[in-house]
Amino acid sequence: MTRLLVVGWDGATWSVADPLARAGRLPMLASLREEDAAEGVLETVPNMNSAPAWSTVATGLNPGRHGIFYFDEPVPGTYRRRVINATRRSGASLWRMASDAGKRTVVVNVPISFPAEPVNGYLIAGLDSPSKTISGFTYPQGLTARHPGLFDRYTVDPGAPSLIKAGKVQEAKDELLQITDGWTSVTERLMEEEWDLVFVVFTATDTAQHFFWTGEGRQVVEQVYQSQDEGTARLVEKARTQDPDVNVIVLADHGGAVNTRGPELMPVWLEDQGLQAFTAPSVPSRALSTGFRVVDRTLTREQKLALARRFPRLRERAESEVRLAGLHWKRTRAYSDGLRDEVFVNLAGREPEGSVPNGEYQGLVEELKEGIEGIREMDTGEPVVESVRHRDELYHGPHVDLAPDLTLRWLLEGREAPFRGFECETRRGREKMRALVAQPPFTDGGHHGDGMFLAAGPNIRPGYVRGRLEDVTPTVLALLGIPAPAGLDGRPLDLLKDVEAKEAKEAKAAQAAERTPAGLRESPAEVPAARADRDPATGYTAEEEEEVRRRLEELGYL
Ligand SMILES: [Zn+2]
Repeated sequence: MTRLLVVGWDGATWSVADPLARAGRLPMLASLREEDAAEGVLETVPNMNSAPAWSTVATGLNPGRHGIFYFDEPVPGTYRRRVINATRRSGASLWRMASDAGKRTVVVNVPISFPAEPVNGYLIAGLDSPSKTISGFTYPQGLTARHPGLFDRYTVDPGAPSLIKAGKVQEAKDELLQITDGWTSVTERLMEEEWDLVFVVFTATDTAQHFFWTGEGRQVVEQVYQSQDEGTARLVEKARTQDPDVNVIVLADHGGAVNTRGPELMPVWLEDQGLQAFTAPSVPSRALSTGFRVVDRTLTREQKLALARRFPRLRERAESEVRLAGLHWKRTRAYSDGLRDEVFVNLAGREPEGSVPNGEYQGLVEELKEGIEGIREMDTGEPVVESVRHRDELYHGPHVDLAPDLTLRWLLEGREAPFRGFECETRRGREKMRALVAQPPFTDGGHHGDGMFLAAGPNIRPGYVRGRLEDVTPTVLALLGIPAPAGLDGRPLDLLKDVEAKEAKEAKAAQAAERTPAGLRESPAEVPAARADRDPATGYTAEEEEEVRRRLEELGYL
């Protein structure tokens, strides 16, 4: 059985890659395409977010079953959210399944893979790892004893967003262009030993697209694609030297598009409709928010970490107070946080200050769907919403309750500029919309539902492929000659040649595991020691959570 190299390009999209490849600027992608590749798109998860998307790639399960919907999750019975990691994922990963089948694996930088789970080979955790020195960053631990200097030029914390925030745009560009080299070099070194499956994710594409999608910035995006093409070429060449028959997959977890600013506009629209009500912030809440903003501006990172250590929940509380600041809960029936493509119902009995009785839930959901579908852009009168779906329509499994009530998709076809605002019924609403769109957006790129997919090798049949992220796990298992566990949500992509996809009779590995920190339980020796100051749900200390939260916020993920 031949080997398999999988290179993830986070957020990569054919609308960028195709013209570049044709112009000779992505020679590796172009040469894979010329080798009779299977080429097309993989449809991402409903909310197009990288955390559930890569978790679906890794498990072959929909988010309702693996339980990851974002880089954070709601804390039950509160309006707060906590940062999460792989301890919250249910279901076996494909590198776990490959390891169980005796295959040697090298896994590098997959989002939501901390703490590093035991594999038959190596696993280097992704950006949910608080640092590259913490235990749990790698499996096995102590890799640098065996490979001195392995992580010297390796970054878990992309510096580009904070550099951009500080106005150092050139430095941010430089950082984005060299970061892929670190991931590539580590992967190359770990490939020196025997391996059957290499799975590495490059995330610079997504970061670059968020900050440089429009205008002159687009050059940065293109250069980042080129740098990832070079990284991919190094790995493909190394793999082919070791095994000329290696199969290669290049895939994205979602695509890229302009940032429509739709989520930012939703709270104003909901207020205009009388669904989300604001009030003058209460004094304690105002004090907390102001205090938090001052703290955020004036303290160094070290001071903030020290503060997080002393007041573990202060930051979390202040954060949600800022985001949902001044909401009049008793008069709020549905709300949006201004950041995500979603709407929550303020349900009595579930939300701490819920205002919607259970009996009215279904009616309100229908009313919201109809209203949101009918939203039109200010000035143009064009529709803006592609779809709005209830979580029961999008997901299935034991963790559906972690999803927002409604998930929105914006109409992206042909759109290269943000929305000019949403039509409102009240003068106040119109004024707020105008004021909001007059402000510059936080990022100028967003996500698209179709991610780039390309595969080539002796076991790949050329042709056009359209699949879903759920299909990656069974496809990878088939290419490695491992029977897929029964009951996965995906099926092998229609591209297999001279290999047969087999399905095991038992659903054992695919069954949702218990929710308590599976990674922590499986390998007590290899992960951060259980300490009283760790959150039992996530395994993070307050400081570690603060570190990961800061990183995710700067990337625009929280
Ligand atoms: Zn992504």
